Amino acid sequence: MVSGNHRLPFRYCEPACFGGLLDDPLIFLRIRPMGRALLFDCGQIAHLAKRVVKPIVAVFITHAHMDHIMGLPTLVRHHHASPRPLDVFGPPGIAERVQHLLGGYDWNLAEPTWFTLRLHEVHADRILHYRFPGPDRFIGTCEGEEPRIGREIWACRYLSVEAEILDHKLPVLAFRANEQPHFTIDPAKLEAHGLVAGEWLRDLKTRVWKGHGQHEVLVTRRDGEGSREEPADDPTALYEAIRAQETTASLGYVTDVGWTRENVAVMERFMGGLTLLCAECTFLEADVHKARASYHLTTGDLNRLAGRLAPRYLLPLHLSKSYLRRTVDLYHELQPPQGTEILRLPKHIVPAPVGVADVDGWLRPGGRKGRETGDATATDRSVDTSATTVENSNQDRCNPSKTSHDKERSIL
Ligand SMILES: [Zn+2]
Repeated sequence: MVSGNHRLPFRYCEPACFGGLLDDPLIFLRIRPMGRALLFDCGQIAHLAKRVVKPIVAVFITHAHMDHIMGLPTLVRHHHASPRPLDVFGPPGIAERVQHLLGGYDWNLAEPTWFTLRLHEVHADRILHYRFPGPDRFIGTCEGEEPRIGREIWACRYLSVEAEILDHKLPVLAFRANEQPHFTIDPAKLEAHGLVAGEWLRDLKTRVWKGHGQHEVLVTRRDGEGSREEPADDPTALYEAIRAQETTASLGYVTDVGWTRENVAVMERFMGGLTLLCAECTFLEADVHKARASYHLTTGDLNRLAGRLAPRYLLPLHLSKSYLRRTVDLYHELQPPQGTEILRLPKHIVPAPVGVADVDGWLRPGGRKGRETGDATATDRSVDTSATTVENSNQDRCNPSKTSHDKERSIL
């Protein structure tokens, strides 16, 4: 995701949005050093290339309305032959929904090497863990629960993900992904402790930042005009004493929430200081009554929220399809605080649906298109061309003249 010609200021991560303003919201977060990715919500994902889907290691689902979860079986279809497990996080009740989704298929040909879907149902005070093993036909079993301490639900060396529960006339999760602090030393603190920079800092990084902090490290200390080496037996404490203060980048994702006092209070506590806020804005202000009835946000709500949170970037999402010809009104009504830049999505990123007219002719013996193509492969390619033509005709599309391959690159 880029702002103007610049990349967003993330160190390890690269956010992308695979849904347009009117499509299902779909935030993809690539963790560059790992070559892995996280996915926030999983509505329509059929347009995602397999090479986009394969690196996904964890999926964070806000709630089980169709436009946020219907892509899960597609994800399973891409992953099933891989032995690598897939973690899915969701709100209370998600396990039953996933069991119904996966139980709607026959798995009699499942193989012992298929992956296991590990489901984590996030409650206010605990997390329930389920396993849906492919070799056992994705039949889920609860493996137990653990008390929930703090907001964190997932973490790796580069990133952690936190969750809060909000109200959408059912429990809905909001997520916050925080980049982990990287190893940085404050030269002034180093000097104040009488230490001299050198190779030993590399050693300290290995021991502290990479999790081997229990072993002592040899530091270089100033000694008159020269220096001497001496052991420091608590590398973690040493690092805390000399590290530089830094703020790390973070992404917040909130969708489908009512503008209630409780929700606003939770969002204010949870989403402060974000680099990028990806937030639902389903309704324009004139339709505030619809928003209040369905527990969604309006442009006015998002203005108030952005004013209180002051994120550096704001990505409005999930606009109601009823505004197909008025999407520009969204940006007229949004007035972010000074210092917050709005990122704009095209109306659609999902390719246009194919109609009968686009395939008409392929099954006509001796018809025009039948004569043009001599074999099945050529026919397949021609169908693709036809679909691209349909897309070209829709000027609302983000990259009308490009193939899906090019399109994916441009979004990333
Ligand atoms: Zn919803």
